[in-house]
Amino acid sequence: MTKENPFLVAQQQLDQCAKILKLDPGVQALLKVPSRELHVSIPVKMDDGSLKVFQGFRVQYNDAKGPCKGGIRFHPEETIDTVRALAAWMTWKCSLLDLPLGGGKGGIICNPKELSQGELERLSRAYINQVGRIIGPDKDIPAPDVYTTPQIMAWMMDEYSRGAGKNQFGLLTGKPLAIGGSKGRGDATARGGLYTVREAARELGIDLSRATIAVQGFGNAGYYAAYLAQELFGSKVVAVSDSQGCILSDDGLDAQKVASHKAATSTVCNFPGARAISDEELLALDVDILFPAALEGVITAENAPNIRAKIVAELANGPTTPDADVILYKNGVHLIPDFLCNAGGVTVSYFEMVQNFYMYYWEEEDVHKRLDQKMTTAYHSVLDTSRKYKINMRQAAYVVAVERVVEAMKLRGWV
Ligand code: GLU
Repeated sequence: MTKENPFLVAQQQLDQCAKILKLDPGVQALLKVPSRELHVSIPVKMDDGSLKVFQGFRVQYNDAKGPCKGGIRFHPEETIDTVRALAAWMTWKCSLLDLPLGGGKGGIICNPKELSQGELERLSRAYINQVGRIIGPDKDIPAPDVYTTPQIMAWMMDEYSRGAGKNQFGLLTGKPLAIGGSKGRGDATARGGLYTVREAARELGIDLSRATIAVQGFGNAGYYAAYLAQELFGSKVVAVSDSQGCILSDDGLDAQKVASHKAATSTVCNFPGARAISDEELLALDVDILFPAALEGVITAENAPNIRAKIVAELANGPTTPDADVILYKNGVHLIPDFLCNAGGVTVSYFEMVQNFYMYYWEEEDVHKRLDQKMTTAYHSVLDTSRKYKINMRQAAYVVAVERVVEAMKLRGWV
């Protein structure tokens, strides 16, 4: 089966929202495409002396509400359309969380697992040399995403600072703590998602201390979701997966032990005491909460009818296709849509920007408290809207987010 084009998915979702809001066709047309995008060729000297040219992108989708914000992905299957979709979702995400930011996204087609540290550093610096002309602390502020790390952010910030002749800590977020990072950024995506799960569980009458959990994708967000669900709620994680396979243990998996196993063997597979299951089995487990926490296009019309989880909490961007949305809604699955559920990352990124501007850094508990407030408010505005209009949670999130962007564009005289 070929994966749906994520940008077409994002456009389809916007069309549904435009219908609900009865948007002017011109406004709808403007919101369906990025404001601007830069395509770059990035020459990198490889360790063996050869020269390799990588393709990279930066898409600035809409900055009506403030400078663009959004991560940079390093992925072998990156495409311009994936980056466009992700930039659109960032626009809605920042708006939904009521951050004074627009949406953007970047990407490089590469396989970071095949690059040495030196090659990765040269690639990261060369990318910033290319896109440096359109990004900046008050224009467009990147951050980590799939396969990019605080170390990569550090190299990129340093490269830009060299060009500027002064420290530019505010260039991007998700930096290491020692050079302008924020406390609480590392686990923010998962933690924010768990705050929305807590609110959803309250609505549905689910006792999280007895809840079971499956996590599809054991990267940064997936690992912290598993770990924090155990720590904060006492929930039981029964299954996790990564790009190599899935594991299940009815007795529960210790997230930290699985992470150490993965660090040693580079996969969650063959974790002692767990048995292997397929991707499809993981998605169909009879658990309370399913976290899709990897890439887009995982829950489709084919597997959505099998999903038995009461809550699907989308920590990944775009994991569910529009056809699958309809099925989940019909089957009574409570979906916490991606740009609500995974908004904790950009929310703490915004806190990081504020701290960089102020040159004053907050304690971790302040970050957690403010994050909780933002996520809880956003969750309830989506839930209330879904009840008011009798629409699903994703459509409701769109309605809240798009209305605010349209208001900003109108006030500015763009439309
Ligand atoms: N890459 C994350 C996201 O998709 C975080 C973006 C940011 O912190 O700017 O939301």
